[in-house]
Parts: sequence; C-alpha cells; structure tokens
Amino acid sequence: MDGFVADERFDAVVIGAGAGGLCAAARLAKAGYSTLLIEARDRLGGRASTEEIDGFRVNTGAIALELGGVFEETFAEVGAPLDIRLPEPPAAFYLNGKVVDVSRGGWGTLLGGLTKHTARILDTFGEARRGNLPDGRQSTQDWLNGLTRNKTVHAIFRNLCAAIFACNADELPARAFLTYFTRKGAFKRFGFCPRGTIGVWEDLAAAARAHGADIRLSTPAQAIAVDGGRVRGVLVSENGRERRIAAGIVVSNAGPKHTVALAGAAHFPSEYVDLVSTRLKPAANIVINFASRDPLLHAPGLVTFGRTRRLCNMANLTATCPELAPEGWHLYVAYAVPKPAIGEFDADAEIAEAMTDLHEQIPGFGSAKLLSVRVMRDDWPAQRSLSGYDLPRQTGVGGLWCVGDAVKDYGNGGTQACAETAKLVVDEIGATHPPSRLN
Ligand SMILES: Cc1cc2nc3c(=O)[nH]c(=O)nc-3n(C[C@H](O)[C@H](O)[C@H](O)COP(=O)(O)OP(=O)(O)OC[C@H]3O[C@@H](n4cnc5c(N)ncnc54)[C@H](O)[C@@H]3O)c2cc1C
Repeated sequence: MDGFVADERFDAVVIGAGAGGLCAAARLAKAGYSTLLIEARDRLGGRASTEEIDGFRVNTGAIALELGGVFEETFAEVGAPLDIRLPEPPAAFYLNGKVVDVSRGGWGTLLGGLTKHTARILDTFGEARRGNLPDGRQSTQDWLNGLTRNKTVHAIFRNLCAAIFACNADELPARAFLTYFTRKGAFKRFGFCPRGTIGVWEDLAAAARAHGADIRLSTPAQAIAVDGGRVRGVLVSENGRERRIAAGIVVSNAGPKHTVALAGAAHFPSEYVDLVSTRLKPAANIVINFASRDPLLHAPGLVTFGRTRRLCNMANLTATCPELAPEGWHLYVAYAVPKPAIGEFDADAEIAEAMTDLHEQIPGFGSAKLLSVRVMRDDWPAQRSLSGYDLPRQTGVGGLWCVGDAVKDYGNGGTQACAETAKLVVDEIGATHPPSRLN
C-alpha cells in the first residue's frame, strides 16, 4: 500500500467487533478519538454472538458474563447498561445425578466429601494466594497428582479446566489454574443476557456510537498499511468497493496471526513473527444447544460435571431468561472439550463421546430437540490461545496493537480477559498518542 491516499481519515481504526474490539472502540470513542470499528461479519460479538434457530435465541459462544471486573467497569465507564440477569446460585456441580451447591462452603465443601486430602489441596490454594505458585511448566494434572489420586477430584479439576479454559488438565499450566482461581474473578458472580449475549454488545455499540464511533458491519479489513515501522491506515472492502482509511492508531481484534497476515510479516520484528508462529495454542471446544418441553436440570445457572468422557459443563438458560425460548420450552447449552483440545482431534468421534455423556448424565436428553452442534477450533476457537501462552498486546509496529483472547494477562480467560486487554491498550494509547495531538 505505497503512497497511501485516503478516502477517509480517523484517529483510530478497530478491526473486529468481538469482545475486545467493541470494548476498545467504546473506550477510544469515549476518550475523544475519532474511531471507526469495522467488522467482517454481519453481526456484533465475534465468538460471543447469538443467532436465531426455530424461534430460540442460541448463543454461539460466551453466555456467562462476569461481574466485578474490567468487563463491568467498561460498560459503566462508557455509559452502557449491562443487561444481564444473575442466576442464584450461579454455579453448582452435578455429581452422580445430583446438584451440589457449593456457593457457601466453596472448595472445602466440594472436596471434603470426596477425598481425605482436602486440607492438602486447600493449603496449596492458600500458598497460591500468598504468591507461591508452581512454575509455568507443571501441568494442572501433574500438580494435582502430587496432592491426590482421587478419580472424581481429578475429573472435577479436568472439567473446570475445560469449562473455564477450554482445555484438559494435562494441557493447562497449574500456575494459570491457580492464578485464575485465587487471584481473578473465577466466575463467582455472572449473568446471562435475556436477549442472548449479542444483546450486551448491541448496548455497548450504541454507547460507542453515542460517543461518536462509526461502526460498520460486513466491512472486512483487507490490509493494514504500514510505512517506516508505523501504521498508516487500513484498506477495507465496503459494499464490494475498496476504501482506504487513514489512521495513526489501529487496534486489531482479529488475532495476532491474522493481524500479521493483514500487514505483511516483513513489517514486524522477526521475534514477534516467531512468537506468532510458535507460541499461540488455539484451544477447542464443542457447543451443544438443545431444548426441551420438560425441565431437564434443576439448577438455574451453570453446572460442572464430575466423571465424564468429554462433557464439562452445562447451563440452564431459560431458568433465568425465559425469553430466550418460545413459550413452554426450556433452553440449555452444554459444552464438551475434546482430547486433545490443543492439537488435532477427530471432531465426529469427539462429538459422539460428548453425546454419550449427555445421554448418561441428563435423563430425558434423548427426547430433547437438538438445535445446534458446533466445533470451535483452529481459526475460530474457544480461546485463541490457551491461558499461559499469550502474546504481547504490542506488535512491534508503531501504532498497531492487538486485543482479545490471544493477548490476555496471565491466567485470565473469556470476555472478562478481552475487556481487560482493551483497557490496557487504550490506556497505553492515551499515554502515548493523546487525541489532542492527533487532530
Ligand atoms: C463455546 C464457547 C463458550 C464460551 N463461554 C464463555 C463464557 O461463558 N464466558 C466468557 O466470558 N467467555 C466465554 N467464551 C470465550 C469468549 O467467547 C471469547 O474469549 C471471546 O468472545 C473472544 O473475543 P475476542 O475479543 O478475542 O474477539 P473474537 O470473538 O475473536 O472477535 C473478533 C472479531 O473480528 C472479526 N474479524 C476478523 N478478521 C477481520 C477482518 N479482516 N476485518 C474485520 N473484522 C474481522 C471477526 O469476524 C470477529 O467478529 C466462550 C467461547 C466459546 C467458543
């Protein structure tokens, strides 16, 4: 893109309207930057969006939106309502066909009935809270092996790894697991959006527009223009026509790999290009949306399973948000994580394992209405990089940053982590490229 002659000019262009991109665009607009957010798809939310199937509002990714962190703070800061409803209790375990509510007693209540080594496990959580964490090489499974061999405890920890991080216990560093459960929100308080998760993004986009952001759907970025080590703008395709948008700030929510492809590897420091090709570990999961006229689960929020093959957790969405389904129907979503979750697997065989689990765990599943089964992997994964294997948000190109779940802070996950990446990037932009100097 030599001799960049612009059709339009903005202070900042954000590529991608996923959790990270929307939070970044809303914050940039609020901070006074003229901001363009472009999204390749025809809807907001990226991997945390919603579609309509037979009158059901079916989520394609995230459902549980966590309170008490940067995600909630972002909505408050830009003046967007946070339209979520909190199940009570929010989370429980589903062991041997029974719902086990540990919302009051925590880990002690859960593990106390399962293993005589509970005190040992709780001690290591205490140590982690004091900052004594295993190094990043030991897996969660190896760490737990040193504390107990109890199969149900191992199954629960595997399913927690799967539910939160979309991986198996032998794939996740124990350091990341313990960081999350002792220092981050750990999904203690969360809610579901009664319009489907896309509802919260619609509200965030409306707030961003109210601060002056221009948001264009079905407008893919085709290239990022870089010259002399600095970003110059973005080439987009709008209604089938190429447009050149000049901007000194580009925030990419498209993931580091796609960002490098858009700008061209030659423009990045070679260490960064190496990191992009060697460090990223996309983590996969399988999402099964189904509905029933009879209730199938007597817990209003999320349940995590014990001994299963692949199934890890399940949400009872209509218990809190009945408007997600036509009248008289109950809507559920179950998640399974393949083995391995990081690397090659046979999708059909993994789906079959998950289905067997659902038949075993949920009486009545056999007569449920199956709405969709999706495998999230490769370029459209559950997590763009496994926790503990994140890239820096800086790309080495002046004015170009990444946000989203490949550039999370250590041990964080999900939309909360993405919102945090947006805050960190916009804070850095504020410190280095104040809006007044751009105009
Ligand atoms: C099944 C499943 C369940 C999950 N459950 C939860 C949960 O309950 N709670 C939670 O917090 N998290 C959950 N997560 C994780 C969460 O959904 C993701 O971490 C998060 O949505 C990722 O957001 P992101 O900012 O990385 O952007 P993405 O969702 O990756 O969005 C990036 C956007 O960029 C767009 N884009 C890409 N290339 C271009 C281009 N060239 N031009 C323009 N646009 C482009 C894409 O179309 C996309 O919309 C779940 C994930 C999955 C898959």
